[in-house]
Amino acid sequence: MKFRGCHYFIKRDDLINPDFSGNKARKFTHYLTHDYPHIKRIVSYGSNQSNAMYSLSVLAKMRGWRFEYFVDHIPNYLKENPHGNYLCGLTNGVIFHESKWDDTQIIPHDTLLIHEGGRQIEAKVGVKLLAEEIEEWRVGHGLDDLSILLPSGTGTTALYLQKYSPSKVYTTPCVGDSTYLRSQWSALEADSTLHPTILETAKKYHFGKLYKEHYELWMGLKRETGIEFDLLYDPIGWRAIEEQKPPTPLLYIHQGGLLGNMSMIPRYQRKYGN
Ligand SMILES: *Cc1c(COP(=O)(O)O)cnc(C)c1O
Repeated sequence: MKFRGCHYFIKRDDLINPDFSGNKARKFTHYLTHDYPHIKRIVSYGSNQSNAMYSLSVLAKMRGWRFEYFVDHIPNYLKENPHGNYLCGLTNGVIFHESKWDDTQIIPHDTLLIHEGGRQIEAKVGVKLLAEEIEEWRVGHGLDDLSILLPSGTGTTALYLQKYSPSKVYTTPCVGDSTYLRSQWSALEADSTLHPTILETAKKYHFGKLYKEHYELWMGLKRETGIEFDLLYDPIGWRAIEEQKPPTPLLYIHQGGLLGNMSMIPRYQRKYGN
């Protein structure tokens, strides 16, 4: 696609499957395909509109597992007007517990714990497949060099993509800063030469906060390319590209998350009007 005069390749992981898509589908591939005869239940925790929570609710439904999800706080507004990932989670039978996740609790034998955002070693199974698909495409198109960029939350997808890809992987922290991202990576992969390359935006953004410039960039992308990106991570990824201009040809990974836009768009409208 072409955007503001530059050419990009887009990997449309948002189109994998309407219910199970984006990088959460990649990160949870292992749990979909692995044999778990003793498991009856999954437990996870995180925010009330989490993309990971929704994807896990689909996974639990497909596998016939009970899914319990711990969230610090569910605002009254959301309880009275369920929408977005929260509503779809409810529809898929998620049992929400409004209480802080206790990391010291003992996980029963029949229960699978999945950490916030799918920050798990198991994520490497599906992300490796993504790396292989990209590599096959790169070779098939005769591209000698390729840069890959994807914005990071926990950084799990970017980490395993770099581990399995011969191309250089760039990423931008969206949840914490670069120090947070490096510590997440080090917990999963000790060899820092296998870590992705960080491109920071000049301005620091608070995760989940609304920024008019994010909405404008997101809208610009939609108008010019016809592709709807996510509103939490992608505006930061695209800003990093515009500011830092990573080497081309550049492949941007659309990591899904569009259901989350159904809660982000009304928040933007409430704050800035139509
Ligand atoms: C979860 C998510 C991310 C962050 O993925 P990590 O592997 O945690 O870095 C990025 N973009 C979208 C759309 C997501 O849903």
